[in-house]
Amino acid sequence: MSELQAAGEARAKLVVMKFGGTSVEDAKAILRTAEIVRGRRERGLQPVVVVSAMARVTDQLLAAAAAAGRGDKTGALAIAARLRNRHLETAADLLCGEHFAEIEKAIRARFDSLDDLLRGIAAVGELTPRTNDKVVSYGERISSQMVAAAFAQHGMKGAHVDARSCIITDDHYGKAVPQEAAIERKLAELVLPVAAAGNTPVMGGFIGATADGTTTTLGRGGSDFTAALVGGGLHAGAIEIWTDVNGIMTTDPRICADALRVKTISFEEAAELAYFGAKVLHPATILPAVQKSIPVWVLNSRNPTNEGTKITAMAPPCASPFKSIAAKKRLTIIDIVASRMLMTHGYLKSVFDVFDKYRCAIDMVSTSEVSISLTVDSNERLPEICDELGRIADVKLEGHKALICMVGEDIRGRSGISGRVFSAIRHVNVRMISQGASEINMSFMIEESDVEEAVRSLHAEFFGDPDPTVFDVEARAVSAKA
Ligand code: ADP
Ligand code: ASP
Ligand code: MG
Repeated sequence: MSELQAAGEARAKLVVMKFGGTSVEDAKAILRTAEIVRGRRERGLQPVVVVSAMARVTDQLLAAAAAAGRGDKTGALAIAARLRNRHLETAADLLCGEHFAEIEKAIRARFDSLDDLLRGIAAVGELTPRTNDKVVSYGERISSQMVAAAFAQHGMKGAHVDARSCIITDDHYGKAVPQEAAIERKLAELVLPVAAAGNTPVMGGFIGATADGTTTTLGRGGSDFTAALVGGGLHAGAIEIWTDVNGIMTTDPRICADALRVKTISFEEAAELAYFGAKVLHPATILPAVQKSIPVWVLNSRNPTNEGTKITAMAPPCASPFKSIAAKKRLTIIDIVASRMLMTHGYLKSVFDVFDKYRCAIDMVSTSEVSISLTVDSNERLPEICDELGRIADVKLEGHKALICMVGEDIRGRSGISGRVFSAIRHVNVRMISQGASEINMSFMIEESDVEEAVRSLHAEFFGDPDPTVFDVEARAVSAKA
């Protein structure tokens, strides 16, 4: 076998396994995670593990940073103290002997430096995005060390890698943009040799650093993105996203208890779903995997024998028009009315330039003779954006809106689907409609308070008689009997 062939085979055996917050929420969950990784090793695969912070830790770190930023030192330190105890207790449940002694020391040192940082923020009474990223990074830094120690104790040669040495980003704090060429070089230098020696590298998701070493984060839910960057950078054979549901479902199971697992979905469909609100996957996860044609699986760490969802380049044909329904809340509609100028050359550009300046993403656009309606995430920059737009048009805001997005490759070229959609939700007030440029999604805006009812009605209409080749109908039959 040539050297090149051998390298190719070794890479095909690499599997990037990402475990979300609930999969590392306590000692029991971390042990389950360890068993899943062991299973992959026993199959002759070489796992590279990416972990989130323990469940709810990121929210609490953000709350601590915000408290310190308001000058509330006591409040910030109280949150940090609770987090310190939770991590120490988990480590004590999980580890013993030298492994425990080492991690205990590391946890105490990390939390001492977090306390110092929070005191510093409280003293100046100002929280910059850069410092916010630093505070929030502790969650993944500590969880990854703890998981690596658990793997080491259980004979799986866990080896901690500081994600900040590999995931190189720009300095857009809070939503840093990864530098893929630099990441690929760092992974080859720092992770591949560790894996090649038969260890299990474990790194934190979500966090990175600029080229000069300042800590950054990739945005909420960003550990999925890290997994895709690592998978893409290592040219891995597969990426597995381990979470707390059986895979990508026909809608959020928290809204619809009878949501079904989708067995296979295309990259394009999954990307639309993630972008339009399905929390199960971070929207940026798909791209690095698509570029290198790496299959992505979404799997349940509480039910590891379940097949999960496979995301691939091509989806099999499906008798149902849609694969899944996503809902995105906290949106605002901006109506921009400018009777004389709308159709003049360069006007739309001047409107979009304002959004660009504030790095504000637009979800949906519709235009009429005299007005443009846009939808954006409700965010703190909206007053500034509106002020600026106000110089070129009349501007009106409507908050508390939600976007429902129905995704499926099989809506292409079918007629009568929108009739079914809108008759299923005829009692709901629909504000804006778009049949996506991608031809695989149909989206519309409704009131936030109507989301649950609308999703349930649509789900009943389109998934009442699901295609068993694409959806896991057996699970529904089993739960109906139970
Ligand atoms: P993790 O911590 O593992 O990253 P998340 O909470 O970010 O997990 O994502 C998993 C959650 O996503 C599920 O518990 C579920 O409530 C929600 N979700 C939303 N839409 C979907 C969907 N279409 N399929 C599966 N889960 C979904
Ligand atoms: N811990 C981060 C968050 O809660 C990243 C992640 O879990 O994906 O947003
Ligand atoms: Mg997530």
